[in-house]
Amino acid sequence: MNIILLGPPGAGKGTQARRLVETRGMVQLSTGDMLREARSSGTEMGKKVAEVMDSGNLVTDEIVIGLIEEKISGGGDGFIFDGFPRTLAQADALEELMNRLGQTLDAVIELRVDDEALIDRVTGRYSCAKCGEVYHDRTKPPAKEGVCDLCGSTEFVRRADDNEESLRQRLFAYYKQTSPLIGYYHCKGKLHPVDGMAPIEEVAASIDRILDSLDRG
Ligand code: ADP
Ligand code: ADP
Ligand code: ZN
Repeated sequence: MNIILLGPPGAGKGTQARRLVETRGMVQLSTGDMLREARSSGTEMGKKVAEVMDSGNLVTDEIVIGLIEEKISGGGDGFIFDGFPRTLAQADALEELMNRLGQTLDAVIELRVDDEALIDRVTGRYSCAKCGEVYHDRTKPPAKEGVCDLCGSTEFVRRADDNEESLRQRLFAYYKQTSPLIGYYHCKGKLHPVDGMAPIEEVAASIDRILDSLDRG
């Protein structure tokens, strides 16, 4: 089964994707993570990507489609597309890629979260520098303060773009360029909206119900 997690910045895509990796052995493909890796490489391409990301705009379709293609061209199944596609051109490219690989896209889970809640989610977000587990100052602190629940690391990082100004631009980009995908996947009968305002465990249970019902066919 291959799925897309769709939703604005801070909706909980990464959090839910990591959980599906743990519970179902699926493979998370986060274009945001891939791009952060590219920017830390220090190459010319990385520098350009860094500038665009910090401004809150979208990186070109060409770059992200290339990154995804690299990851899935070896085949396989059980992909979770997290933060991709973000434009109609990316959605078309994904469809073509899946067709070429003889794969299907089974579901698009749309996480619905209010704009005001997103500011709080993004400004309170941090993650483990070692294993990448995602935390939040208020809604998801580690069980033991300053120590990662998963790997025991005491080093954490905050993203350069997780500030209010960048978020505003990212939201603008989301509504303008990404939200048309909601209608696109609705037309294809693949859209499954989920209340992303609920606590993490409840959102996870809603997603499980959708995936289980698809599994049963
Ligand atoms: P969030 O988790 O806050 O939604 P991401 O980590 O997915 O953010 O993405 C961070 C930034 O990386 C975006 O603001 C954008 O600049 C770039 N980016 C990530 N995925 C894509 C994509 N599919 N197309 C274009 N740009 C992307
Ligand atoms: P995205 O990948 O969509 O940008 P994240 O999964 O990184 O979103 O979540 C953004 C922030 O909100 C993180 O700090 C995370 O711990 C927190 N978070 C995620 N889901 C929820 C939820 N359902 N309720 C409260 N906080 C959440
Ligand atoms: Zn960790």
